[in-house]
Amino acid sequence: MIKSLAKHTNRKFWGWGYADFCLTEAENTAIEEAGRLLAPEGGTPVSIPQLAEYNLPKPRISPPAALKPLLSSTPYDRLFHAYGQSCADILRMLMRDAPNPPDFVAFPKTQKDISHLLEWMEKDNIAAIPFGGGTSVCGGVEPDVGDTYNGAVSIDLQYLDKVLQIDPVSRAAHFEAGIFGPDLENALRPHGLTLRHFPQSFGFSTLGGWIATRAGGHFATQYTHIDDLVESIAMQTPRGPLSSRRLPGSGAGISADRMMLGSEGTMGIITDAWVRLQ
Ligand SMILES: Cc1cc2nc3c(=O)[nH]c(=O)nc-3n(C[C@H](O)[C@H](O)[C@H](O)COP(=O)(O)OP(=O)(O)OC[C@H]3O[C@@H](n4cnc5c(N)ncnc54)[C@H](O)[C@@H]3O)c2cc1C
Repeated sequence: MIKSLAKHTNRKFWGWGYADFCLTEAENTAIEEAGRLLAPEGGTPVSIPQLAEYNLPKPRISPPAALKPLLSSTPYDRLFHAYGQSCADILRMLMRDAPNPPDFVAFPKTQKDISHLLEWMEKDNIAAIPFGGGTSVCGGVEPDVGDTYNGAVSIDLQYLDKVLQIDPVSRAAHFEAGIFGPDLENALRPHGLTLRHFPQSFGFSTLGGWIATRAGGHFATQYTHIDDLVESIAMQTPRGPLSSRRLPGSGAGISADRMMLGSEGTMGIITDAWVRLQ
């Protein structure tokens, strides 16, 4: 039984996919053959990582009592949020090398929770790292923030996953940022609509993550960049809420959407967004 505050605990904490994802016999044979070609002298097989095999440092910070129900420091939660999903990330996990997990993982359920968390972290000089699906391949969710912070908290958006509105007339929909790709498309399908944004990480990445990384839907053609599909964005920043206006098009002034698109969690936490549908 995995100890966790997360809604979804069926993913591997050390690599891609669900914990019960297995390779087929044919895939295992292909890997063995490739291994023989690459390392004819043979290699050392690596066993599947177990939670108890990691030497996790103790959390360096102590949260206020009011926020404790939102925060987890279980080994599964800390290790799951220690890295993204790049090859280097998975190799470090296979080597049982995770010296900088987040001190805590926060699971906010409302925008108010997020603003309380940011208030505490700003006051106590703690790095706040937004976390969508954790499929980043460029260190975007890694809590190795150096000594200038007193600690690091990963803020996982998985409970903010609601469909807020679907508007078939203007072909747009309003979602919370933590919704995963398949849930978003499943909500649109009965209306005959689609966002048609299909990154290769679709199954395990979120709307907020797509916006924060300016994702490209490499499994589709034509309008595949999330930039073209976003109508407006709402964000909680350490200075309060920030949101852009929902307009069919605008040429006036600085584009707030363009500022938030690709912000990789550096400006604040994207909480919800309106997107254009097809
Ligand atoms: C196998 C694989 C295939 C991939 N295929 C593609 C592809 O086809 N196209 C592509 O563009 N990318 C691809 N990626 C990269 C990655 O999936 C994308 O960058 C994706 O958009 C990340 O979404 P996420 O929800 O997993 O975000 P995370 O990995 O959790 O976060 C990514 C960054 O965004 C920030 N962030 C996340 N959520 C929020 C939020 N709500 N508010 C503010 N900041 C936030 C994080 O702090 C981090 O900096 C792939 C990765 C893998 C491992």
